[in-house]
Amino acid sequence: MNRTDAQHTEAFIKAQLEAWPMAAANFEALKGVEVKELDVPGMHIKVQFNPARMVSSAAKVDAASLKARKCFLCDANRPAEQSGMPWGERYTILINPFPIFPRHLTIPDNSHTDQLIAGRAADMFELAADLEGYTVFYNGPRCGASAPDHMHFQAGNSDFLTIGDALENAVLRTIATEGNATLSLADGLPMAVFVIDTDNPEAGAALFDRLYAALPVPEGESEPMMNVLCFTTAAGLRMAVIPRKRHRPSFYGTEGDDCMLISPASVDMGGVFITPRPADFARIDSDTIIKLFNELCLNTNEAEAIAEKI
Ligand SMILES: [Zn+2]
Repeated sequence: MNRTDAQHTEAFIKAQLEAWPMAAANFEALKGVEVKELDVPGMHIKVQFNPARMVSSAAKVDAASLKARKCFLCDANRPAEQSGMPWGERYTILINPFPIFPRHLTIPDNSHTDQLIAGRAADMFELAADLEGYTVFYNGPRCGASAPDHMHFQAGNSDFLTIGDALENAVLRTIATEGNATLSLADGLPMAVFVIDTDNPEAGAALFDRLYAALPVPEGESEPMMNVLCFTTAAGLRMAVIPRKRHRPSFYGTEGDDCMLISPASVDMGGVFITPRPADFARIDSDTIIKLFNELCLNTNEAEAIAEKI
């Protein structure tokens, strides 16, 4: 089976940046983007002003818009400069040509199949184990994914995100165990986060499946709404599952003074908010971030009710 490690991944990224000037220019431009830092209770937050991400933040992800465009994750439609590194039986590791992270990967399924997490949690743990130093993440089809019609994970260097530190400082209350794997609920973060700690991808996936089964599936959705981030810690593998109850905030948009073009996904939940417009970058503050978490994520009571069902 094709697997990778940090060294192979580094060499792959280097080769792609040498072969693909557009991607190299975008990674280079990222070094100059403005970042401001904020604190909300329980979490340090970075805000990145990244105009190149307009494409993603304003992405139309309704069925008609998706049908009208060529899928950019299908092998047949990828730019000639883009090459992939096979991983396992059914995934390919690519560089993301519109990066947020200094090292940013996209990991599509080899077939054009819907963005759904069911049955793939073990893959996330395995990827995080191979891609040491990276956080592997999943955006639900209406939780920030800009290609909800083609299953994909992404990965970026973990030291860029703040959720790892926030969880180190949080109190984790155990809800369930499978072998050495533990499912817990984090206290003290600005949103509800379920945490799975394990050194065994299969045991971790079994706990994920129990959590998945306890989460509600909103009408019209094909799975519970969520963002998932998976990374290595000193103790082993850690997965943070952040259930969502809303796709975009009430103030999402480009019309009117009160609107902001901000469409949160796993990276934002991981502590780095992306603003493609200068006015939004200037205006976003701790209150905006708290309001976002409150609107999009579960509160303590809602999370407790889920925990009781597991
Ligand atoms: Zn596709």
